[in-house]
Amino acid sequence: LGPTVVIGEILVEIMAKSRGDGFLEPIELIGPYPSGAPAIFIDQCAKIGGSAAIVASVGDDDFGRINIERLRSDGADISAISVSPDYPTGSAFVRYRDDGSRDFVYNIGKSAAALVSLTAEAKALFARAGHLHVMGTAFAIPGVWEMMDHAIGVIKQRGGSVSLDPNLRKELLGHGQTRERFARLVDVADLVLPSGDELSVAAGVEGETAAVAALFARGVTEIALKRGEHGATFFGADGTRLDCPAFRVAEVDPTGAGDCFGGAYVACRRLGMPAFQALEYANAAGARNVTLQGPMEGAASRQQLDEFIAATPRDVR
Ligand code: ADP
Repeated sequence: LGPTVVIGEILVEIMAKSRGDGFLEPIELIGPYPSGAPAIFIDQCAKIGGSAAIVASVGDDDFGRINIERLRSDGADISAISVSPDYPTGSAFVRYRDDGSRDFVYNIGKSAAALVSLTAEAKALFARAGHLHVMGTAFAIPGVWEMMDHAIGVIKQRGGSVSLDPNLRKELLGHGQTRERFARLVDVADLVLPSGDELSVAAGVEGETAAVAALFARGVTEIALKRGEHGATFFGADGTRLDCPAFRVAEVDPTGAGDCFGGAYVACRRLGMPAFQALEYANAAGARNVTLQGPMEGAASRQQLDEFIAATPRDVR
């Protein structure tokens, strides 16, 4: 029917792995790595063989160019990435603490990433798209809701579908119309890919079983629940449940696991694979991603995932 399309931020990530409490002391930084949750999602989608495109904005600088080049070489459609002559590519500084927690310093609001808009190229892309993937990280960008509304209208009218990764910063839910707009997205979503307690946030109901039932009552037809180091679970509207035990891996960098999971799942389903097979590839894509430094570095081809699956033991915890 047409490509899977995502709207949102393209960033570079620069990371610090040192002791200490903040960014204030001189620290050793590594990067830049291509990043931005929607960019990682679409890169994984394309790399596994799905038709995939992104609507985004970068600066006219090397940070923008490394992203465009990566996405292009991995097979994504980059026709709707606009290049701002005035603003730099967005960035994220990530500091990994020894206890596994992370601190982020973002430059998105005053970067090219915030300039994403309904350009002629974006309109043309939506007009031939078969699926829209909506990501909560993009909700902080002004004007994104309106673009999503437009894209959903056009794509649904063509008989296309919508998936939602509700990774919404909770504090945003209290802002203006965010809660009702978010609820509207849940109502139009065919597939929801929550992580942990995002399931109950999306459903507006506590408890896994009740939240799953509430989403199905609102028209969702499948849910792929991400459980981090505990793997993933599929729920189908017909009552099917599939648990996928985690692969046992050494976690090097957790950033991007959920985006690779989502990119692989959506691409595999759209390629016509049954849910259990899509879930297996998604579970593998998320696990493989955490073994590599850099948020997009673990995005994998189908062959790389087959090799990973054959070589990696399952969690028996
Ligand atoms: P998010 O990044 O959206 O919070 P998760 O952390 O749940 O998402 O990761 C997404 C998926 O990646 C998980 O459902 C699982 O399949 C895989 N994954 C993530 N972390 C690990 C890990 N430490 N070991 C094995 N698999 C993992």
